[in-house]
Amino acid sequence: MPLDDLVLRLQSLVDRLVRRLRLGPAPVPGRRRLLIVQIDGLSWSVLEEALADGRAPFLRWLLTQGRHRLAPMSVGLPSSTPAFQLAAMYGVRPDIPGFHYYDKRRRTDVYFPRGGDATRVETTQAAGRHGILHAGGAYGCVFTGGATSNLLTFARISRPSGAGALRAVSRFVVLGWVALKGCIISAIELTRAVLRLIADPVGESARGWRWLAIKIGISVWLRELFTMVVARDLYAGVGAIWVNYLDYDVFAHAYGPRHRRAFRALRRIDRSIHQLWRVLRRVPEHRYDLYVLSDHGQAACTPYLDLSGGRPIEQALFEDFFDPPSVRERPEPGGRGRRLAHGIAAYRTRRAPGLFQRFVNYLEQDFALVLGGVRHVRERHGIRVVSAGPNAFVYFLEPRAPVGIEWIEQRFPSLGEELSRSRGVGFVLVRSEAGPLCFWRGKRYRLDELHTGPFAGRQDLPRVVEGLRDLMAMTSAGDLVIYGTDAPQGHVSFVSEVGAHAGTSPEELHTFLIHPQAVELRAPIGHPVELYPLFVRYQREPA
Ligand SMILES: [Zn+2]
Repeated sequence: MPLDDLVLRLQSLVDRLVRRLRLGPAPVPGRRRLLIVQIDGLSWSVLEEALADGRAPFLRWLLTQGRHRLAPMSVGLPSSTPAFQLAAMYGVRPDIPGFHYYDKRRRTDVYFPRGGDATRVETTQAAGRHGILHAGGAYGCVFTGGATSNLLTFARISRPSGAGALRAVSRFVVLGWVALKGCIISAIELTRAVLRLIADPVGESARGWRWLAIKIGISVWLRELFTMVVARDLYAGVGAIWVNYLDYDVFAHAYGPRHRRAFRALRRIDRSIHQLWRVLRRVPEHRYDLYVLSDHGQAACTPYLDLSGGRPIEQALFEDFFDPPSVRERPEPGGRGRRLAHGIAAYRTRRAPGLFQRFVNYLEQDFALVLGGVRHVRERHGIRVVSAGPNAFVYFLEPRAPVGIEWIEQRFPSLGEELSRSRGVGFVLVRSEAGPLCFWRGKRYRLDELHTGPFAGRQDLPRVVEGLRDLMAMTSAGDLVIYGTDAPQGHVSFVSEVGAHAGTSPEELHTFLIHPQAVELRAPIGHPVELYPLFVRYQREPA
């Protein structure tokens, strides 16, 4: 893209001007620098397929040049972005059981796209640790990793940071260009959509215009914006950068991990990485090491609603297990009123979200709506159910600490057995005095017995066991953790999606790391915490 180059060169001029005015130091030559590109949601097996079929031509080229290597990586449980990023950015085993969960001690939900939640998790769980992105850039991430420059990073979403008015001007050059380019590509996409609508009115209008808006937002604007902002950082010699491309994950959730639209998104990301690579070659003096990795894969799944006749799991759990018939009431007429009330309360306590947060909330709410769902939470009789994907958490609210099977069975005898036999459920995890238990198809298994039941024949059984143990050691994991993974009906998700992650399937657990050959690495990587020493080394380089 010669025009992109022109814009970046113009910007570099502005940057030099900024430095001449002694507003910022020139980048130190000679220091090794870090660039991490995350392809959200891409499993090892889909990457292999894409490389073989020419759907990621740049990555394939990169791997045949002999200077980069492909290493397998297991990501642990839950297989989801926040858990992965906290572990890799700070080297800690996180207490993050899902993308949405309940914190019994604070008596509140943690839901990552919501303003403040990611920041609170990061400041409490990474306290005292040195983030791998200290003074660097984090784009499209859940956490900052210590970065001072953040764009659509959940933990900093309400106040995009970056110092100095003139630096803002410099950024403006890029933003202006991205805006122009985004408009042109959006116009093309819109024209295409109109043509498709004419050709196939039912199919396209079923997805609706909201879906189109999100698709354009994520696949065009964000990717372009991230690529240009990262390119700018590379020219400026920023010490450590992490950019997360979300497109593939979004399309895989909506259509499935091997759908042509998901592959097309991957192809676009591949092109963006190529663009960054060209910038890297122009600034060899900055000595960047390029890593490409994925935080988890996705498993093709069936939405629970398709199996339950439209009854969401949080409703089914109460009706079939937790509501004694005598106190059974009519289901609440949706959570809308409550959400509104909550929003007003947040406004009053001045926790009202900023502009960026509103934008993300809008995307998130619409995205959930497009996929046919609302955020799944239900609480009755002191029991709270939160479904977060292929995983749902049940919390008994009265005790402030997690309770085990002994406590549960006094109140609900043989609950684990019955739950694990119910439609659309794969397995159920519970704590016990003798360690975590896994209920599967109506029987209970200790973690050392899993090879005889739910995970018989799994080559990666030690990884699965480690993941389950880690998960149930998290204080915020539900007193019951219900997985739709490996149900008799196939993988099942409790939200409306056909690609899911957080679970134990090989596609979710196993991803990859592309790293410079010169970097010594103990492969395969067993857990993202092992990435931390690799990445934090760049912080210790003389600055
Ligand atoms: Zn996802």
